[in-house]
Amino acid sequence: MKILVVDDSATMRRIIMKHLNDAGYTGTVEAENGLEAISRMEGVELVLTDWNMPVMDGMSLVKELRQNPAYSRVPIVMITSIGARKEVVEALKQGVNNYIVKPFTPSILIEKIKSVIEVTA
Ligand SMILES: [Mg+2]
Repeated sequence: MKILVVDDSATMRRIIMKHLNDAGYTGTVEAENGLEAISRMEGVELVLTDWNMPVMDGMSLVKELRQNPAYSRVPIVMITSIGARKEVVEALKQGVNNYIVKPFTPSILIEKIKSVIEVTA
């Protein structure tokens, strides 16, 4: 399954990709901001994106993807340290399928991915 991991922190991307790999999700691709993510969307089946990033943040990425007919139905999980209810509600309204609040465990990450894949399958 081709999962796109979007985060400005190389360390965070490495951690997430290791968790995915350990759970059997191989073929993961990465991007360091929303703009780069858009250029890597070809064939992507799930997007895992950070919220706070330079150049283009996660919220803007979600809006761009949801407006694009080619990617409007690709499941998106937002990873954020912003646990504030208002932001989460806004993210869901913009088309995020689920969200994860940092810090998270590998099992929470995999659980959220599975829930999103099942719902959108
Ligand atoms: Mg960040």
